[in-house]
Amino acid sequence: MMAGFLLARAGVNVIVLEKHGDFLRDFRGDTIHPSTLEVMHELGILDEFLKRPHQEVREIAGKVGGEAVKVADFTHLPTRCKFLALMPQWDFLNFLVDQGKRYSGFQVRMHAEAIDLIAQNGRIVGASAKTPNGQIEIRAPLTIGADGRHSIMRERAGLQVVDLGAPMDVLWMRISRRPTDPGQTLGHAESGKVFVMIDREDYWQCGFVIPKGAADEIRKRGIEQFREEIATLEPVLRDRVTELRDWSDVSLLTVKVDRLRRWWRPGLLCIGDAAHAMSPVGGVGINLAIQDAVAAANILATNLVAGELGDGDLHAVQRRREFPTRATQRLQIAVQNRVIRRVLGSSQPLRVTGPLKLMQRWPLLRRIPARVIGIGFRPEHVRTPADARDRR
Ligand SMILES: Cc1cc2nc3c(=O)[nH]c(=O)nc-3n(C[C@H](O)[C@H](O)[C@H](O)COP(=O)(O)OP(=O)(O)OC[C@H]3O[C@@H](n4cnc5c(N)ncnc54)[C@H](O)[C@@H]3O)c2cc1C
Repeated sequence: MMAGFLLARAGVNVIVLEKHGDFLRDFRGDTIHPSTLEVMHELGILDEFLKRPHQEVREIAGKVGGEAVKVADFTHLPTRCKFLALMPQWDFLNFLVDQGKRYSGFQVRMHAEAIDLIAQNGRIVGASAKTPNGQIEIRAPLTIGADGRHSIMRERAGLQVVDLGAPMDVLWMRISRRPTDPGQTLGHAESGKVFVMIDREDYWQCGFVIPKGAADEIRKRGIEQFREEIATLEPVLRDRVTELRDWSDVSLLTVKVDRLRRWWRPGLLCIGDAAHAMSPVGGVGINLAIQDAVAAANILATNLVAGELGDGDLHAVQRRREFPTRATQRLQIAVQNRVIRRVLGSSQPLRVTGPLKLMQRWPLLRRIPARVIGIGFRPEHVRTPADARDRR
C-alpha cells in the first residue's frame, strides 16, 4: 500500500490488489516505528496521522522471571518522533488508502486476489486476479509482489527462497482489558514460556510463543490447561481466561524467516515479507517493508513515469535493501536461537543475565536496541517528487 501511494504520488498509475474485503485481521503487527513516522513527516502527513487514535511507547519494558526489565529507550533517537506509535494496522492501512486517494493514478481493488502472473517472452507483463465478479487480468510494465510471507507472486515467479528457519510459532488471542490493568510491558518470559500482551484499549492482543510445531500437542492437553498456563503467567488475567471458550478463539500464526536469492524477474519485483519473511522478534518487519517501499519508489518512479524501466532498476532496489534485510535477519536469528529457543526449552527459573543485566545497570546501553528497532539499518528518505498536476 505504501509503495502504491508513493508511486501514485509521483505520477505513476497504480492498482493495488487486496484479497480481503477489509484490513480487519488480528494478526497484523501494530508497530509504527520512528523511521516510518519520519517518512510520514517527509510526506507532510505526520500531523494528520498522529490525530488518529494511537499510543506512544517511549521505552520497551518487559518481565524476565518475574523481574521487571527495560530493554530499549527511544527518547534519544535522532528522529522527529522519539517513540514507537502503536496503532492497529487496519487503521494505518486505511490511513494510507485515504492518502493515496488524493492522487488520480491510485486505485485499490479490495476482494481481488492475485492468483497468477502473466508472462510474455520471458517477461512478467501483469497479473491475473480472482474477484467476486470473476477473474480479471491486469497488464502493467511492473508488477510488485508485496503479498506477505506466504507470497503467491514469488512462488509463481519461481524465485528461489533461502529458508533461515524459526524455532517458534505463536498462538494469538484476545482477552478483555480493564482500565485498572497494569500498563503495557510488551513481553514476559518465564522458564519454558514467552507471553506478549499488546494494549488495544478495550482488549489485550495476546501472543503465546510456543516451540515450532508444538501447537497440536498443546491443543491435545486441552483449553483448560492452556488457560491455566496464561493465568499463572499473568495472574491479572485469571478472572478472564474463560473468554477463550475453545480453540476457535486461539489462532496459530506460523513464524517464517526466509529471503529470496533474487528479488526480481524482468517485469516483477518482490518487496516486504514477499522478498524476506521476517520473524516477529523486535517487531521490525512492518518497518522493513515500508523502507523497501520507499526505496522502490525512489529508484523506480522516474523511469516508470518515463516508460523506461529497465532490469537494472529492479536489481538496484535489491542492492539497496539487501544489506538492511540481511543484517536485521541475522540479529533476529541470533535472538531466536540464543534467547527464545533457550527460554522455551528451559525448566529452570529464568534470571536476568548478560547484556540485559548490563542494560539495567547502564541505561545508556538501552539506546542501542532502540536504534536498531526504531530506525534500523540504512533508513530510507522520500526522494520521489509529488506530482502536483495529478492531485484530485
Ligand atoms: C506473529 C507475528 C507477529 C508480528 N508482529 C510484528 C510487529 O508487532 N511489528 C512488526 O513490525 N512486525 C511484526 N511482524 C512481522 C510483520 O507482520 C511483517 O514483517 C510485515 O507485516 C510485512 O509486511 P508486508 O506488507 O510485506 O506483508 P503483509 O503485512 O503480510 O501484507 C500482505 C498483504 O497482501 C495481502 N495478500 C496476500 N496474498 C494476496 C494475494 N494473493 N492477492 C492480493 N492480496 C494478497 C494480504 O491480505 C495483506 O494485506 C510479526 C510477524 C508475525 C508472524
